[in-house]
Amino acid sequence: MSEKELDDEPDSTDEEAVDSSLMGIDVAKTTDEDGDRIGSTETVIETRNLDVYYGEERALQDVNMDIHEREVTAIIGPSGCGKSTYLRCINRMNDLVEAANVEGEVRFNGTDMYGDDIDPVALRRRIGMVFQHPNPFPKSIYDNVAYGLRVQGRKVTDEKIERALRDAALWDEVKDQLDESAMDLSGGQQQRLCIARAIAVDPEVILMDEPASALDPIATSKIEDLIDDLAEEYTVVIVTHNMQQAARISDRTAVFLTGGELVEYDDTEKIFENPDDDRVEDYITGKFG
Ligand code: ADP
Repeated sequence: MSEKELDDEPDSTDEEAVDSSLMGIDVAKTTDEDGDRIGSTETVIETRNLDVYYGEERALQDVNMDIHEREVTAIIGPSGCGKSTYLRCINRMNDLVEAANVEGEVRFNGTDMYGDDIDPVALRRRIGMVFQHPNPFPKSIYDNVAYGLRVQGRKVTDEKIERALRDAALWDEVKDQLDESAMDLSGGQQQRLCIARAIAVDPEVILMDEPASALDPIATSKIEDLIDDLAEEYTVVIVTHNMQQAARISDRTAVFLTGGELVEYDDTEKIFENPDDDRVEDYITGKFG
């Protein structure tokens, strides 16, 4: 999420005001009175007959897909097949793309996220996003993690900052330099900081668009381990052009092919070992794409 967007969020001074601003999104179903997550429906996000057009060009066609709670769902496919477009539909980031026209239905915990009473900014607090290139703010490590909490008018405590940094597997590397600039961290550390920033506001779903493609192999492997750990607590959806990565870290894999068609969606093992669709087999084995 860009700094500008976060700046657009309304100021709020207490946690109650923040919760009531989640307009129409059923958080009660998934959280107890302390706000901790409890068991809920297995499907977190459902897309039904989803079409996306950019002007005349159709980028997604009739996509039907259920994303399951506390799993890693990978979205793979050749460049231009609509992976990022799909990801942006499931936290309404496409609202920010003027040419984009979204048709069909996307439900979050059963609620139509494109309904008239849904506040997209509040929605994006529940469904956070991490981008391809690490984009820390030119602030201290501490202030980067605290940023979302402050913008939402929520209390910042050292415990919350530590927890987010621990969950992002960064705490041990930065605990003695929290006041130093985030810009001095390595690329891999910056990306884990962005993940810490995303999880500090306690989202339910984390969307990641090629989160490791700008990183070296060691930093990539740390991000992959982290994603695996994050799925114990969060629902993770990751776009990757790296098929081995999808095979290593995801529970389910969706294969999009040219024209924005979701060709096959199944357990990752099935997709990579015995896909139903010949085009998926050809793609996986490198015959095209
Ligand atoms: P992928 O992530 O699989 O590479 P994208 O979702 O980025 O695919 O793009 C799908 C199609 O939509 C492509 O043909 C791309 O050119 C087009 N597209 C993506 N974003 C925009 C945009 N902002 N304006 C116009 N066309 C776009």
